[in-house]
Amino acid sequence: MNIWMKICIALGLGLKRNGHIFFGLLAGIVVGIFLHAHENPIVTQILVVIGQLFIRLIQMVVIPLVISAIIIGITSIGDNKQLGKYGTKMILYYALITVAAVGIGAFLALTFKPGANAIQYVNISSAVEIQHQVAHAIEAQQGHLTGLFLSFIPKNPLESIAKGEMIPIIVFGLIFALALAKIGEMNRPIVSFFESVFAATMKVTDWIMALAAPGVFALTATAVSSFGMEIFNSISSYLLVLLMGFAIQFFIVYPVFLKIFSRVPVMMLFAAMAESMMVAFGTASSSATLPLTISCCERAGISHKITNFVLPLGATLNMDGTALLQTVAVIFLAQMYGIALTPIIVIQICLLAMVASSTSAGIPGAGLITIALILNGLGLTPEQLVAGFALLYALEKVTDMFRTILNVTSDAIVAAAIADNENEINYDLLNNPQEFKEII
Ligand code: ASP
Repeated sequence: MNIWMKICIALGLGLKRNGHIFFGLLAGIVVGIFLHAHENPIVTQILVVIGQLFIRLIQMVVIPLVISAIIIGITSIGDNKQLGKYGTKMILYYALITVAAVGIGAFLALTFKPGANAIQYVNISSAVEIQHQVAHAIEAQQGHLTGLFLSFIPKNPLESIAKGEMIPIIVFGLIFALALAKIGEMNRPIVSFFESVFAATMKVTDWIMALAAPGVFALTATAVSSFGMEIFNSISSYLLVLLMGFAIQFFIVYPVFLKIFSRVPVMMLFAAMAESMMVAFGTASSSATLPLTISCCERAGISHKITNFVLPLGATLNMDGTALLQTVAVIFLAQMYGIALTPIIVIQICLLAMVASSTSAGIPGAGLITIALILNGLGLTPEQLVAGFALLYALEKVTDMFRTILNVTSDAIVAAAIADNENEINYDLLNNPQEFKEII
């Protein structure tokens, strides 16, 4: 049986194991399409409330989880040498996966030229409201690359925690955890405290997952009902190129990556991650999905040490799906406005997409806005920028749901590869589900 067939079967089995969530997702798509055709504000309102309830509940545990996970992860790795090794490997693997994503995005966008005839669809006078929103967001991003990097160092960690700013929280968590690791036995009271916080937040996550099926249902239905279906026809080639890119990254790059760098059977990992992938699709937020990603990876046999260190950082910094989208989107806009795409410009776009994606927060829509960082040097007028963005915006929700699946899955791929390299994976657990063994 070839590997793709095995992956599809494993995914199918993973979905079956979480059949209630999968059912919620499918029902959400159907109800969303229905609501798009027959508006019903009351039903939509109820769905929005259910969806938000689910998202808010998981967001509630993210910050205590991230801080405690990083502290436990780093202090349990302990010595500097090992930490350096894990850290270097993590950065290298995340970078490699993102290089593949931007490479695929650039190749597909340059080959299929989705922006070539799109200019006819830019109607400067339409979608004024969206254009206003976009204009504000772009303005906030432009020319602020240095300021952006400085803002990663929190002046006041408690303020960052209160505002939910993930990167500054992680920077503080990392430095604090390194210091705890350095002071040895004296760190016991604080580490035990965070061990309890971690265990309790994972327990709360379990409880919240009881709401996963209605939550994913409601989120998917509201997202699908708000899609601008009309735009599908106009820039459908953009959407197709993106979906093709996502599929190549998911079905080819991830398996090849695991094959080269580890002995982890990709189908087992995908099957274990199915629950997390569905929640990523519904919430379009890798941060909100993090608690579940950690629990799926741990159930797949990856040790605490690795999940706690690699996954919170990945959920914030590793955004290969976002980088792929940004590369395609910028090339799309350049093609649409007839800007010459020299090899140097394409390389620049790819490199900037790697930076911009990792500065995007793991929340819905963040990746589209940070594109402004890449567009700075492309010479578009503010009007062109805003009109182009408004066009991409119409497909934002659907692409966000798909790219978040990649952002989350690649975190697990990297965690599994490092766990394998460092003998931190329990293969009995990973290969355990009898039903998989029998079929594959
Ligand atoms: N929604 C994405 C995530 O949370 C980020 C983005 O691309 O907007 O991973």
